Amino acid sequence: MHVLLVEDDLVLADGIARILRGHDMAVHVVHDGEEADRALISPVVSVAVLDIGLPGIDGFEVVRRLRARGSALPVLLLTARDDVQDRVRGLELGADDYLVKPFAAPELVARLKALVRRSNPRPVHLQMGGLQLDPFTRRATVDGQVIDLSAREWAVLEHLMQHSSRVVSKQQIIDAILPWGEEVTLNAVEVYVSRIRSKIDSAGISIKTIRGFGYLLEQSNG
Ligand code: CA
Repeated sequence: MHVLLVEDDLVLADGIARILRGHDMAVHVVHDGEEADRALISPVVSVAVLDIGLPGIDGFEVVRRLRARGSALPVLLLTARDDVQDRVRGLELGADDYLVKPFAAPELVARLKALVRRSNPRPVHLQMGGLQLDPFTRRATVDGQVIDLSAREWAVLEHLMQHSSRVVSKQQIIDAILPWGEEVTLNAVEVYVSRIRSKIDSAGISIKTIRGFGYLLEQSNG
């Protein structure tokens, strides 16, 4: 789950980001409306937390532009005061939910999870052979036994499972797992894949290397 957090109060932004990361969410933080507008074009963002009062273009305008582009991305607005007018305006412009500051961290986490669940009718589990991934709890199991995956390994495996029986290039994997310009080399992808292979080995699943191109996840025995 990738959260784009737009908040110009640096201390608050840092605090919220830490809370969300503690709940296994990938968080990208930006501090003004223009930056938010650009970051929201990334296809990997699964939900946006958007402060209304921002330097440059405000949160209302960011939502308006997002919806004008036809995006259905779930958006939760943060409002500084309990002002009915603000909330109504935000919802009318296409925000899905709002929280009034100060709010309790567990409420933010619960609302974000609910928004993503509602917007994303994917099956709860990804399954292949004895391997099962639960995207919400981020648990991976092989024949019912939990296997230990790093966040990156998890993301790579999730992408491969979502595209199983198709060849996926290393660059596609990088684009899928790293939306915000973090550096990862093609070699690093090879390292993640080789670690994943050793962990899912017993599930009857193989990740075949397609030389010069990428990978193919498939069941090893038919
Ligand atoms: Ca603000």
